[in-house]
Amino acid sequence: MPGDGRARFVVQRHRARRLHYDLRFEIDGVLVSWAVPRGPTLDPSARRMAVHVEDHPIEYLDFEGVIPAGEYGGGDVIVWDIGTWEPHATDDPAAAVAGGELHVDVFGEKLRGRLVLVRRGGPVRSGDREQWLLLHKKDEHAVDGWDPEDHPRSVVSGRTNEEVRADPDKLWRSDAPAARASVDLRPAAPLGADALLALDDLGAAGTWVVHGRELRLTNLDRPLFPGRDGQPPVTKRELVRYAAAIAPVVLPYLRGRALNMHRFPNGADKPGFWHKALPGHAPDWLPRWDNPEADRGESRTYLVVDEPAALVWAANFGALEWHAWTSLTQDQRRPTYALVDLDPGERTSWDDLLVLARLHRTALEHLGVRGQAKVSGRRGIQIWVPVRRTGRGAPDFAETRAWVERLSKSVGAVVPELVSWKWGKGSRGGLARLDYTQNAVNKTLVAPYSPRPAPGAPVSMPISWAELDDPSLRPDGFPLRTAVERVVERGDLFRPVLDHDQELRPLT
Ligand code: MN
Repeated sequence: MPGDGRARFVVQRHRARRLHYDLRFEIDGVLVSWAVPRGPTLDPSARRMAVHVEDHPIEYLDFEGVIPAGEYGGGDVIVWDIGTWEPHATDDPAAAVAGGELHVDVFGEKLRGRLVLVRRGGPVRSGDREQWLLLHKKDEHAVDGWDPEDHPRSVVSGRTNEEVRADPDKLWRSDAPAARASVDLRPAAPLGADALLALDDLGAAGTWVVHGRELRLTNLDRPLFPGRDGQPPVTKRELVRYAAAIAPVVLPYLRGRALNMHRFPNGADKPGFWHKALPGHAPDWLPRWDNPEADRGESRTYLVVDEPAALVWAANFGALEWHAWTSLTQDQRRPTYALVDLDPGERTSWDDLLVLARLHRTALEHLGVRGQAKVSGRRGIQIWVPVRRTGRGAPDFAETRAWVERLSKSVGAVVPELVSWKWGKGSRGGLARLDYTQNAVNKTLVAPYSPRPAPGAPVSMPISWAELDDPSLRPDGFPLRTAVERVVERGDLFRPVLDHDQELRPLT
């Protein structure tokens, strides 16, 4: 098994556009790979087509999880088999691959015995991938009629592809360097006690090493949020600590997106302002993006929270509220979510808002469309519906806006006494607005887990759909001081919005 010095192999069952099995051998520090549509087998009479594909980084060897839709290989992956292998009749397997014939003995949990890979004859057009044949020798491990699909579970987790997709542990970012491509989707372990102590030991200012970066922190004892229910105000030190603790959880919702910062450097009870441009004094390591479509006078360089320390930097910069764009920087005109914003008016009670939220829940269920809800941290509820990001069925902003408008208007028609479609706040008569207009480039809703500028620093907390029926639910009921605890207990309830393989069903 891995670690005993022998080279390793893995077979991953990969549901991408088509189901296939990836057979990978560790050779000279990379994974030399074939995609086998019908999978490897112990059946000595089977001849399986195997497409020679790109070498993969060694870090991918035990990857099991999801690859975002729209990225290379988007889908789900399990470690179907893993073990060690030895080349047969050669001690230069790289040369054997180049020569078009590789014989190996494999020592896996499912696969045992001798496999042969042979390149098929005939000219290979440049750009085409080489077609090979995979077969199992008739040896003592051969089993007539053996079918990999009869053995569908992961050898590391015991789970099927379906089970991993429903609740993945990891996500693979093929656009990141291999060492950082595997992203842990489980709630972050509480920050190390050492890091917390070091933050508490700083005076009003100092240098803190967190998430691998040295950050210069200032005004740590400044109260930023008024206290709530007789509690002391929430200080900047607490905001910085929260940002550091929640960063690994919130990162998937911020990564690859421009961040609009809502700053309140003098505290949440003083006027705040939008700060979009990354300031000139920002440290060089901060990930950033230049908007090529910025008009003159418009912000051009944005912060992109691609690593946890960048969020800590933003918190120290006085960004109490985090608003990531709905589109990715690589394709800013393409939304990744359709956003439903249930915005209460002055006369809208919390019960009224719950009625509207439950009607949206029912409508989405009826349509068979997945969406996740979160409380806004103020008085509202928002629903994020992930959409396909590339290719056929990937909507533009006009389409998500029109879809949400139709959805919300059909809900509003059920309870016309609760909803106004007037734009001006004054002309809404205190009624709720179902706001579909945020579905536009560079319009944002507050990010999940972001604090809001209000007493006690309530955060915009993801909720399960069932919690809409919990009488203790409050839109601002998750203060920063206990938010991490809830996430550790409940997990990240928002994660399903990261699966973008969804087409919006037309509403009729
Ligand atoms: Mn694959």
